[in-house]
Amino acid sequence: MFEYAPAPESRSIVDIHPSYGLFVDGDFVDPEDGVRFKTVNPATEEVLAEVVAAGPRDVDRAVAAARAAHETRWSTLPGRERAKYLYRLARIVQERSRELAVLESIDNGKPIRESRDVDLPLVAAHFFYYAGWADKLGYAGFGPDPRPLGVAGQVIPWNFPLLMLAWKLAPALACGNTVVLKPAETTPLTALAFAEICQQADLPPGVVNIVTGAGETGRTLVEHPGIDKVAFTGSTEVGRQIARSVAGTTKKVTLELGGKAANVVFDDAPLDQAIEGIVNGIFFNQGHVCCAGSRLLVQESIADDLLDQLKRRLATLRLGDPLDKNTDVGAINSSEQLQRIRLLSDIGEQEGAERWSAPCELPDRGFWFPPTVFTGVTQAHRIAREEVFGPVLSVLTFRTPAEAVEKANNTPYGLSAGVWTEKGSRILWMAQRLRAGVVWANTFNRFDPSSPFGGYKESGYGREGGRHGLEAYLDV
Ligand code: NAD
Ligand code: MG
Repeated sequence: MFEYAPAPESRSIVDIHPSYGLFVDGDFVDPEDGVRFKTVNPATEEVLAEVVAAGPRDVDRAVAAARAAHETRWSTLPGRERAKYLYRLARIVQERSRELAVLESIDNGKPIRESRDVDLPLVAAHFFYYAGWADKLGYAGFGPDPRPLGVAGQVIPWNFPLLMLAWKLAPALACGNTVVLKPAETTPLTALAFAEICQQADLPPGVVNIVTGAGETGRTLVEHPGIDKVAFTGSTEVGRQIARSVAGTTKKVTLELGGKAANVVFDDAPLDQAIEGIVNGIFFNQGHVCCAGSRLLVQESIADDLLDQLKRRLATLRLGDPLDKNTDVGAINSSEQLQRIRLLSDIGEQEGAERWSAPCELPDRGFWFPPTVFTGVTQAHRIAREEVFGPVLSVLTFRTPAEAVEKANNTPYGLSAGVWTEKGSRILWMAQRLRAGVVWANTFNRFDPSSPFGGYKESGYGREGGRHGLEAYLDV
């Protein structure tokens, strides 16, 4: 492999404040009972800023602001007026997308190539898409005049910080709800930048409120009696707790939880494309993807050839500085997540699977894990059953299509799946049998705001995106 000259994106375009307040009722405010904590750059461990872990009184204040805004302003505004605000937010995101991409890569550790080319375009696309629905809700199939739910409490994870914010805010606002959103504790900065964008867009105060903090703040928000709707994306474990805590209340819930997707490669698949799809499926965003293709199911007759080719391809991946435009694999988001990836990988070896890692040098500082492939994996192995949420691929083989289906579905999850084959009929045959919310054919990890996304079984319930995504925010 030849060397590339470094091509770092300049970080001078972002202006990170030393300290941030909470975004409540249109203003940044100091906490009442919250405390401050530091957020770091996972690629360098450098402290980026201090943010607030909001306490119960802070959450209370944000919910009250959202309630007032819902009653006095937002829910009474005609859909076409709400649409104008959403279009404005979308356009400002586009105008500031370079800045937001750099900030996202600094705070999250993901390669700038991804934040710039995937996250940010999709963020803008979601706001544009739902702006289009805001004045057409009567035609969405939920009755002539569907009403909003009220105040939504939304809790999002750290893997796609700004994109998950967009998935949550855009449909909620389009439908006439107001929002209190809590970003993940390790990635609060783009949500706070978005709060500034709300000010820039002259969004009425209280329509969007952003409270930073960790799990405790999230729990306070979800359990707050003043909210009408809970939307959560994160771990299945926390999803279960939330389902329990809202049981017996009138709150509506959508949960988008983990996954353990099968990426199924048949012997007639276009191999070069399949290799790219496998790499994109599990090493995109360091594998911090709920719908990642973390289980490769490959037909036995081509397994050896495919694995040789896959390892050759992985050896060319560039791991390192997330702000370098040549970087393919960035930093692991936190030391906790790195520990979890290490632990599950060690267990993989102890249980008898064979571990191979791409030969790449890991930087001295920051949180890093090399692209890793486990072969000789059986369905009973923990690396085949549990979500690693890191750059770790488990390889299993199959002989017949029926065996592929059985193995693919042998998981408590059901968020996504991939099928690689030349035969259209086989794609349809597989898609009918795979218990997964999304089935990609001859591609992987493709997203579009018009396409609903969500899971079966322990991957959660409810759909985000598309017309289906409106239902979660309407009283239907
Ligand atoms: P997590 O579920 O703990 O965190 C997700 C969000 O929920 C964060 O904003 C967090 O502050 C908040 N939260 C935590 N506890 C809460 C509670 N009791 N009530 C309300 N909100 C709460 O996930 P994690 O600890 O960051 O990651 C652990 C594992 O979860 C990962 O290894 C991965 O397998 C999985 N995960 C999945 C997704 C996904 O997109 N499906 C996202 C993040 C993590
Ligand atoms: Mg947690």
